[in-house]
Amino acid sequence: MLISEIKTKHILTHSKVPGLGYSINPYVGCQHACVYCYARFMRRFTSHDEPWGQFVDAKINSIDAFDQDILKVKSGEGAFIASATDAYQPVERKYKLTRSLLERIADAPLDLCRNGFAVSILTKSDLVLRDLDLLKRLEQVSVGFSIAMTNETVCRLFEPRCSPIRQRLAALKILRDAGIRTYAFISPILPGITDLPAIFAALEGVVEYVCGETLNMRCGNLADVTKAVSLLNEDLTPAFERNIRSRSYWKMVEREFYELAKKHAIPVHNFFHHITGTSEQTY
Ligand code: SF4
Repeated sequence: MLISEIKTKHILTHSKVPGLGYSINPYVGCQHACVYCYARFMRRFTSHDEPWGQFVDAKINSIDAFDQDILKVKSGEGAFIASATDAYQPVERKYKLTRSLLERIADAPLDLCRNGFAVSILTKSDLVLRDLDLLKRLEQVSVGFSIAMTNETVCRLFEPRCSPIRQRLAALKILRDAGIRTYAFISPILPGITDLPAIFAALEGVVEYVCGETLNMRCGNLADVTKAVSLLNEDLTPAFERNIRSRSYWKMVEREFYELAKKHAIPVHNFFHHITGTSEQTY
């Protein structure tokens, strides 16, 4: 694992995440090395030859960049942490960049929180619990965990270095009990792998809402995902390959998603489609 230190010009970058104007990515690269990771496209913007998951660049001047960038933020905008990395991957234990940024937001001299600076964190690591003291101080904060499977063996294959699912669920409960808004991002939904009924059952009582997403294939990850499916069980591969681009299959999945959400009384905020491999489709 190659870990380097870099400097960035900006830490608040414009984002299309609904309701939030900016993304914050304190790192480039991600030690979690998920097989399906869509963020691997970030490698293009680096000089790294290492495979995705084998390098991390820590933006060590994140706080200085934040202090500059925050001056242009308008009232009512917010930030999504993180859109192209995991802000709580293991290297965060050493650098504490995410923690420092949350401290800055909590202590913002511009009273950003009171003016409506929302923070939404999405992670696959229960290291986020380390920052519970800061999260409690933010007026508008939500913390979500990505969960695409409930079987820990399957999880090790697709998400080799993330917190086990049971730890993510336990973390959601701790956060919820502490009064933090919690959500689950059920993503990526993988045909034959993702067990939606099991996931919804596990989420009952620990999240306020859910979002769903099909596999984002625009970064050339499909071959690796298909290989992982066949490693798990070769018999699953034909149906996986048939369904991954099938509109009728995804319509059926979306219907099931909403039915399960209703059954478990968990509101759905979004369901994102990426079915053609070239453009995003929303029904
Ligand atoms: S945790 Fe997120 S950013 Fe990191 S490898 Fe997995 S999918 Fe990619």
